[in-house]
Amino acid sequence: MGRIVQKFGGTSVADIAHIRNAAGLVQAERERGNQVAVVVSAMAGVTNQLVGYCSEAAALYDAREYDSVVASGEQVTAGLMAMALQEAGVPARSWLGPQIPIRTNDVHGKARIVGIDSVELERRMDTGEVPVVAGFQGVSPTGRITTLGRGGSDTSAVALAAALKAERCDIYTDVDGVYTCDPRIVRGARKLHKITYEEMLEMASQGAKVLQTRSVEIAMNHRVRLQVLSSFDDGPGTLVVDEDEIVEQQVVSGIAYSRDEAKITLVKVPDKPGVAAAIFGPLSDAGVNVDMIVQNISEDGKSTDLTFTVSKAELKQAVRVLEGINGEIRFGQLRPDPNVVKISVIGVGMRSHAGVALRMFTALAENGINIQVISTSEIKISVLVDEKYTELAVRALHTAYGLDAT
Ligand code: ADP
Ligand code: ASP
Ligand code: MG
Repeated sequence: MGRIVQKFGGTSVADIAHIRNAAGLVQAERERGNQVAVVVSAMAGVTNQLVGYCSEAAALYDAREYDSVVASGEQVTAGLMAMALQEAGVPARSWLGPQIPIRTNDVHGKARIVGIDSVELERRMDTGEVPVVAGFQGVSPTGRITTLGRGGSDTSAVALAAALKAERCDIYTDVDGVYTCDPRIVRGARKLHKITYEEMLEMASQGAKVLQTRSVEIAMNHRVRLQVLSSFDDGPGTLVVDEDEIVEQQVVSGIAYSRDEAKITLVKVPDKPGVAAAIFGPLSDAGVNVDMIVQNISEDGKSTDLTFTVSKAELKQAVRVLEGINGEIRFGQLRPDPNVVKISVIGVGMRSHAGVALRMFTALAENGINIQVISTSEIKISVLVDEKYTELAVRALHTAYGLDAT
């Protein structure tokens, strides 16, 4: 008998009928002889509505109260799921993050899990009870409720699976697996039967929201077997596995895009030691994450242009910080641009193949798409282009790397 964690996303618990359907999947897993722990998200649309209430209530809200509001969606579904299981004859009880407890740090709105006390859950699972855990939430060192960032129920599920030493963590969602690209924008996207942890980590961090990035990180570090599958159709999903489990490796496994980027160009920045630190230090102190960075060599030896990206949500804050330090740094101009998208091609096969980047640049050029910024890692190439080309660029690259379904 093994232990399985089953996580149901928003669309899988969108209403009572869906919750009953999910309860059926829990029951089926138990009938296969496994102990099951369940993690639930809020019903589809609920978290967005709660976030909207916060923005309406206060322009600059208290992040601790934000967490208290947005964590409530998962409380509702945990209780409803426990009821549905009980109705189906399965002993179950709901658990909130602080009741277990799922301990986190105190970074409200995007807290990180630091530990899960699973002893009581395990004791009850040994008696046949199914714990239904409210995803997305935990408790800070000072006893305040925290949330794990959007999409954070995936992370709750994987962290719980690691704590329970579960055989597998199944992430039930509205697609039947991880695809070569978001199937909502590339109709010819193919389902991957397996993907490596590393590739999944890049896909998630470059914008494929099917799994929260942190959840993949935890799965990789704790070697949790992770499966993404549909709660609507039968059949196996995508397994996230070690590289040596993949027999036939493609050079490029997938393409991801993120509309969450914004570009900032500082024109005529003095070209002298210490300037980059003087710019990126205050941004980091203000909690602004910088992603891609390019700086040209200076033509006259005196000044150069510096371009970098931040998330769209942090653009205003970044501009405020930069304007605040200009008295000291004295750059020529500050040009913010939120109309950009980052597109990334990902594949572990890139390590051993040449010409992967060239194929990307050629495909974009053939479609008249100008590249604004490029960045690479061992298994990824990302470009920043005008947001209006998102679909065109993604589809062109999907075809160029031979990923279209035949
Ligand atoms: P849930 O509410 O179940 O957590 P999400 O909306 O967070 O579901 O994630 C599932 C969505 O992720 C899909 O509907 C799909 O549009 C999107 N997605 C983005 N990239 C991919 C990809 N490469 N493969 C599968 N789905 C993807
Ligand atoms: N309900 C939260 C969100 O919408 C967490 C999750 O669904 O994973 O972000
Ligand atoms: Mg999700």
